[in-house]
Amino acid sequence: MHHQAASYTSPAYLLSFLWWPLLYFGALAGAWLAFASDQPILWFNLVYVTLFLSIILLERVMPHRAEWLDHDGETLNDIGHTLLTKGAAQLAVAATSIVPMAVATLTRTDDHASHLWPSDWPLIAQVVLAVVIAEFGLYWSHRIAHENLFLWRFHALHHSVIRLWVVNTGRFHVIDTLIKVVLSQGPLYLLDAPLQVFLWVGAVTAITGLLTHCNVETRTALFDPVFATPKLHRWHHSKTLKEGNSNYGENVMIWDHVFGTYLNPDKASPDRLGISGKVAPDFIGQIMQPFSRKGGRQILGQRVESDEGKSADENASAPAVGRISEA
Ligand SMILES: [Zn+2]
Ligand SMILES: [Zn+2]
Repeated sequence: MHHQAASYTSPAYLLSFLWWPLLYFGALAGAWLAFASDQPILWFNLVYVTLFLSIILLERVMPHRAEWLDHDGETLNDIGHTLLTKGAAQLAVAATSIVPMAVATLTRTDDHASHLWPSDWPLIAQVVLAVVIAEFGLYWSHRIAHENLFLWRFHALHHSVIRLWVVNTGRFHVIDTLIKVVLSQGPLYLLDAPLQVFLWVGAVTAITGLLTHCNVETRTALFDPVFATPKLHRWHHSKTLKEGNSNYGENVMIWDHVFGTYLNPDKASPDRLGISGKVAPDFIGQIMQPFSRKGGRQILGQRVESDEGKSADENASAPAVGRISEA
């Protein structure tokens, strides 16, 4: 929008309208086929890898920002956090929901009277309901991570990048991810949602996540009010506090509308991304940093460092500060 003087008939211009719905709904259709097959996980992973490679290709052909293609030295860290958080989240889910659910399924009697989940609805309606419920947990865990300074220590890692591209999709501190998993999947577990519905929520979240962080030129005006599109998520990564504390939705924007944090200005995406504090340069350092007082101060930035005599926790009681914008 801001720098591409593309003509209105160029293929890149037309593609900027088409590629997002094509890849998003195409990947969901692919997941549908995968889950209907006899090798659902294998086929789903194939869909996921295809989506990932398509985005990598589009980022080179029609980047939203050419400068975001430059290396920032964080690629290996991004991949490390992606693998660690995915592994930890899967272990947590296995320990807290899939194992007990499998036991419950095996031992379940015909007495469904106490089950709250509408298992008789068409699957697609169940998935939509589950995404909206899970999104409530995703929304609040995300929003609290921005508004509470103690939790921001963990979430800041995700925001410390100064460019967006598909590889920093999974750059989350493992604690940040575990809080999100508990708050988003817990309610579904309590409502006795079936395993298939859990798989679908995981699939939708994985597909949407790859797309929200991509550096591909995108025109999604029709979809922005409903889905977490790349355009909306770029505002969420703005270094400017009042822009960044918005668009907390991870899949759908319903709770941002309800709680008044939806932001979709009609202007070029933010120039400056990132945080005012500093995260450690290395992988282990990035994991350990939030646990020490010194590390916490580094993450929070200058204001806390200059605030001698006050602990970061005391500052954490300050209302709705979230990310500290550069002073
Ligand atoms: Zn965030
Ligand atoms: Zn993000």
